[in-house]
Amino acid sequence: MCSGMDLIVLMPFYNEEKQIPVTVERMVPLLDGLGLSYSLLLVNDGSSDGTWKAITESSEKYPSRVRGISLSRNFGKEAAICAGLDVADAEAVILMDGDLQHPPELIPEMIRLWRDEGFEIVEGIKSNRGREGIFSKVQAKLFYGLFYRLSGYDLSDASDYKLLDRKVVLKWRTLREHNTFFRGLSAWLGFRKTNFSFDVAERQIGRSRWKLSSLLRLSLHAIVSFSAVPLHLISFIGAIFLVGTIILLIQTLFNYFSGVAAGGFTTVIIVNLAVGACVMISLGLIGTYIALIFDEVKNRPRYIISEDTRMSREPDDHSESLSTGKEP
Ligand code: UDP
Ligand code: MG
Repeated sequence: MCSGMDLIVLMPFYNEEKQIPVTVERMVPLLDGLGLSYSLLLVNDGSSDGTWKAITESSEKYPSRVRGISLSRNFGKEAAICAGLDVADAEAVILMDGDLQHPPELIPEMIRLWRDEGFEIVEGIKSNRGREGIFSKVQAKLFYGLFYRLSGYDLSDASDYKLLDRKVVLKWRTLREHNTFFRGLSAWLGFRKTNFSFDVAERQIGRSRWKLSSLLRLSLHAIVSFSAVPLHLISFIGAIFLVGTIILLIQTLFNYFSGVAAGGFTTVIIVNLAVGACVMISLGLIGTYIALIFDEVKNRPRYIISEDTRMSREPDDHSESLSTGKEP
């Protein structure tokens, strides 16, 4: 049931103790000026620094405007988003990065597009990617190019800066896959969509919290959960090798009958190595799909909420707290 609140602004945080007060002090006056009932929902994604302390302090300072939940460990940004969306109870939810790289000044325009023009998803498109290293730029281009070709969804320059109507949030909760890819799944959901462009602001405090390994894992999971093309590709490569094998077979037989069969040793080694490499890559790919299926079958919760500032203030209210991320 809806609490009657108009808006929840959801932000995930991982090791951002210094960033929290800056973000809260910037957001509260801006959201106060909207004339809506709202709350900031700050998700601590299992930080090892003082992030949770900073969140509880903000929540004590603005008890009706700031709510914090804390995950029992670092589950990753995707899981933190899931946790937030599962407890967010409002007519609309805006998701944005906690480091203010998504400019908050655009929120009034997002609200206008949702309330006055009836769009159910309002999404931010990056018009520039901010000060990003060349490696990250190339990696993003490769990933989104591949993702588009394999899944049909063009997410280049898409961001997690989005407004979702309550209807969309409720449908999102019915998607039960364990490994989520928020950008891809919100595109998959459909609904009436519009977008706006924004310049990615500079990060003022600290550095990007993504590790290269987490980014690679997310990219691989995103592709594998949205496309079976890599699996079909294996059969395709197999077919090409079959053609090559037939040609070589004819050549080998020809050599045999012409009495020059000792030659061609180099070809055998090259073909052996090539087939070996293809088999290994294919097995790895199938393994990735199986690992993902295994993950889904285990059906573990996507996240575990260990603390909730609302629960410490309202000990009787268990309705949305201590969620294990399982209930829709
Ligand atoms: N974040 C998170 N869990 C993680 C990694 C990041 O909740 O495991 C949060 C982070 O604190 C920030 C947001 O997700 O508020 C975006 O992260 P970041 O700025 O590191 O990403 P980038 O801007 O480099 O894409
Ligand atoms: Mg950032």
